[in-house]
Amino acid sequence: MAGVLALVETKEGSLRSSGIEAMSAATVLAERMGTGADALVVGPPEIDAAAGALSGYGAGTIHLALDPALAGYRPEVFAEIAVQVIREGEYDVVLLAGTGLGRDLAGRLGALLDVPVAEDATAISVMDGRLRIERPVFAGKALATVEVDVSPTLVTLRPGAFPVQQSEGAGTLARRSLALDPGRWPTETISRESGSAEVPDVSEASIVVSGGRGLRDPESWRLLEELCAELGPEAGLGASRAVVDAGWRPHSEQVGQTGKTVAPRLYFAIGISGAVQHLAGMRTAGTIVAINRDRDAPIFRVADYGIVGDAFEVVPRLTEELRSPQGR
Ligand code: FAD
Repeated sequence: MAGVLALVETKEGSLRSSGIEAMSAATVLAERMGTGADALVVGPPEIDAAAGALSGYGAGTIHLALDPALAGYRPEVFAEIAVQVIREGEYDVVLLAGTGLGRDLAGRLGALLDVPVAEDATAISVMDGRLRIERPVFAGKALATVEVDVSPTLVTLRPGAFPVQQSEGAGTLARRSLALDPGRWPTETISRESGSAEVPDVSEASIVVSGGRGLRDPESWRLLEELCAELGPEAGLGASRAVVDAGWRPHSEQVGQTGKTVAPRLYFAIGISGAVQHLAGMRTAGTIVAINRDRDAPIFRVADYGIVGDAFEVVPRLTEELRSPQGR
């Protein structure tokens, strides 16, 4: 088998943690395949220094496609660069984080290379020289094992499902100079809106504090923000679709079938009933804590810890406990 390529996303001058997960997963997989793992970073020139750190996660060659015009996602240009690198390197497996960008790019690459995409992987193994990809199906109620024998095999990884692992690679920086022709590009980024920079994105947070309709109004999110702050910088906010539809929270925070799929080590579901579409996005979390005043709420069926009670009483007490010296 030839090598594994990880497509590593960047955000505001740094590598995204889901991209580092993809690099770590590529290194582990390459070891099992008896081959090497490389990285491709497409982004603005400022990313140059940060990209070098990928050698600490096992990257052999780090392909850099850097240009100020690539600070934001340009689907057709990113895809063109990736196809060129994949073909030249004759990579057998290409791993992308299952973020919005990763899923969009994987689809484009699949079409351009005429190969299928294995989406939302939570585990990858090699059996008799063939790749086996495990992924949750039917809103996470069952696990499907997919065997793929096309080259290259494109795989998107569920954010949070693959651990970040340090390991030494050769770390040869292979720089790519691009002849960019913006006049040829059919799209242009007019403006960009980013969510709160104070807390990590829900898909990358290792602790998620999610709220639902049980919180009654958007002002109640102050309680969740306070809990989040006590849980530390790894904690991010999530929401059910009911509150996103009500305009209480942005869609970028929605967890579930039509929102983001997350796999944090700790997930708080507060005032969330646990509809199957919500569970689809979070049931693979490490530990699930549910707070709901209805003891029959379906969320308790997937929760590791359940607190039957009023969120307006339980959440401030939890925050207070964490704030106390004993809670630290
Ligand atoms: P509710 O179902 O209204 O539940 C509120 C909960 O709060 C109840 O369990 C109640 O007991 C509890 N509660 C009330 N007051 C308190 C209190 N004071 N303290 C503690 N608990 C309290 N949903 C998603 O979340 N994500 C998706 O991606 C998604 N995609 C969907 C896609 C499709 C095609 C469809 C049809 C639906 C989708 N939904 C999705 C909607 C989903 O079916 C539910 O309607 C939604 O998840 C319910 O949100 P909720 O749990 O916040 O609200």
